[in-house]
This record gives sequence, structure tokens and C-alpha cells, in this order.
Amino acid sequence: MVQTPVYMDNHATTPVDPRVLEVMLPYFTEKFGNAASRSHTFGWESEAAVDLAREQIARLIHASSPREIVFTSGATESDNLAIKGVAESYRDKGNHVITCVTEHKAVLDCCKSLEKRGCQVTYLPVDRDGLVSMNRLREAITDKTILISIMAANNEIGTIEPIKEIGQFAHEQGILFHTDATQAVGKIPLNVEQMGIDLLSLTAHKMYGPKGIGALYVRAAKPRVRLRPMIDGGGHERGMRSGTLNVPGIVGLGKSCEIAQKEMAAEAERLTSLRERLKKKISDQLEEVYVNGHPTKRLPGNMNMSFAYVEGESLLMALKEIAVSTGSACTSASLEPSHVLRAIGVEEELAHTSIRFGLGRFNTEEEVDYTVRRVVEEIRRLRELSPLYKARKAKRHGRQQTESKLPERVS
Ligand SMILES: *Cc1c(COP(=O)(O)O)cnc(C)c1O
Repeated sequence: MVQTPVYMDNHATTPVDPRVLEVMLPYFTEKFGNAASRSHTFGWESEAAVDLAREQIARLIHASSPREIVFTSGATESDNLAIKGVAESYRDKGNHVITCVTEHKAVLDCCKSLEKRGCQVTYLPVDRDGLVSMNRLREAITDKTILISIMAANNEIGTIEPIKEIGQFAHEQGILFHTDATQAVGKIPLNVEQMGIDLLSLTAHKMYGPKGIGALYVRAAKPRVRLRPMIDGGGHERGMRSGTLNVPGIVGLGKSCEIAQKEMAAEAERLTSLRERLKKKISDQLEEVYVNGHPTKRLPGNMNMSFAYVEGESLLMALKEIAVSTGSACTSASLEPSHVLRAIGVEEELAHTSIRFGLGRFNTEEEVDYTVRRVVEEIRRLRELSPLYKARKAKRHGRQQTESKLPERVS
């Protein structure tokens, strides 16, 4: 028996892995020292734990030194520090930033804020699969371009961007490259050296660590990245982010990176197979199902689908015991369709009936099968209530008598 509610929203956040919690616990109790205390063992003990975490993170993304890891409160802060920090530090060089339309709000809102302060921002479009085009990127650069910020993997449709190509191009041009890799770290291999990444944002709570702790990788050489800090204070984190370090959180983030490094390959294989199982079973049983995002350049645990002829809100209500995310973001007054789905050309109505399935470490095959069964059941029920669907079916039935084969757009 599957226990409900089923959690299948691992792009929003992940549960803390019990192995991560276990290493964190002593840092709430007996090992409570301030990592900046230099005069006693309590401080040294915490500092050593922080140093280990820095190494674990650096190893996972192949940073050449643990000193290139700056702890923050999460990916939102890392994105802010990277984008605003570069814009302010490199003002003498230029004021143009390039990003793309499907970025997370943390990046888009930073860019909007820069525009208010006199920066120029180019928002690259994406294709139907959610990929940015290298040609459009090449065309967008000017002699004032100081930063390219393109996410490693999209949090809604799972599309994996050509990070290595972008990084190589940026380095050839002498432009800094930031990537919001929040969804990609620990899920797909990342190598800041080989990929030409100068700044990389990550957060623990998307990779089975705790909420409220993240990091920014800041390249220290070739080139050495200068960042104007957002928070001034005691000069922690080489002056880039002042404030007493969240030692238990940092220990948890480090452990989650260590686990990811060891288990990533096997986990990716398992989640890819669960994802394909989900996709196939749904597509086999339902017509007019559309997959959003790239078919193969996609996060292992991500499946985003639109279901024609159902009403978004009814679908949500019907699937209450399954925690998934929809293509609509609740704003105070209205249900707005996702900017990502709109950017890849999903029409408004379909965007409202889209579901993001976010599979993770603790999902089972039984949960996938349960979810498929419930989704199929409810979509069928809701379609039976839809006059539009009935009309379409009748029309199709009529046509089938004259045509031997009906063109069908399934997935
Ligand atoms: C979750 C997420 C963020 C925000 O991370 P926080 O740690 O919650 O601030 C930023 N970017 C992407 C792509 C995300 O998925």
C-alpha cells in the first residue's frame, strides 16, 4: 500500500536525508562553538567542521580550492551576490548583463533591479524545448557585456542548458559566467573548471540538506572574480558575506554534497527510469498529453506534462493527496500561468493544466504507479465533464470513418 500524501515535488524542496540530519545534530548541542572564535577548542571544532564542508562542496563541483566556496543563506542570496556583486564591481568595464527568460525569479528579479540602476539586460529567448541558442547569445554580446547568467537546469521543465559551451564562449570573450545550478548540483555532473564557470549558486534544501543554507562558488584565479558584498560586517567569508556562520546548516550541506557525489550516478539512473515509467504509462493511457521541456537533455527526476481539456483548478483539487506542482503560480488575486511554460510557447490554457512531477531520492516505483493511476483516473473523469472534449471526440470519431489513420500528438 502506498502511504498518502505522496511527495512528488522535489524541485520545490527535498526532505533532509537522515544521514545528513545525523551529522548536523551535535552542532546544535555540544558542538555549538562560533567558527570565528579563534581562542578556544569550541571555535576550532566548528571551524574544522566548516572547513570539511567547504571541501565536500568544492569536490562535488570540482572547484580547485575550498576557498572558492562562500556560504550564504541559499540560492536566492547566492544569485543576488553573484549578479549584483559583479555588476557593482565591474562598473568600470561595462554595464551589460545577459540572462534568459526562463530563469528563476531570483535571477530575473536581480536583473530587473539592475535595470533600475542603469544596467542594460538582455533576456535571451528559448526554443520549444527550453534551450537557449548559442547563436542568439553570440549576437547579444557587446563591448559592455560583463556577465552572462544562465541556469544549469530549469526548475520547472528540467531542461539542461549547454553550460560548457556557454562557459567556453564567455571565457573566450573575457566575460564572466554565472550559473544558477540549484537544480543541477548533485543531480548531474558539474565541473566548474572544465565548464568555464566563474560563479555558481547552489542550495542545500534541493539536495536533501536543510533549508536556509547555500553557497556561491566564486572563482579565485583565471580570472579572479571580484564581488562587491551585499552584507557588510565582520569580514567573514573573505569579506564577501559577513555574518556568523550557520555551522549545523553548513555541516548538513557538506554531507549532502558528499552523499550526492557518491550516489549521483546510480540515483540518476534510477530516477530517469522512474520518470520514463511515469511518462510512458500516462501517455499510453491518455490522449492529448504534451511533454514540456527537452526529451533527453533533462533532469533525471523531472517530468512536466500538459493535459488538454481539463480545468487546472479542478485537476489540482482532484489530486490533493499527491504533492505536485502546477503550471500556475498563485499570486494574490489571480492564477498566472508560469513564465517558463509561456516562454516555450505553451498556450495559456494548457499552461494552467500542466503538472510538474518532481521525483526524488525517496520516491518509489509504487508511488509512481499510484500517481499514474490517480492522474489517469482524474483526467478521464474531468474530460467526461468537458463539452469541448466531447465535441472533439465526436468530430474525431466522424473523421476516423473516412481516414484510416488519425494524426495524434501524444507527448
Ligand atoms: C529553489 C531555487 C532557487 C531559490 O533557492 P533558495 O535556496 O530557496 O533561495 C533559485 N534558483 C533555482 C533554479 C531554484 O530552483
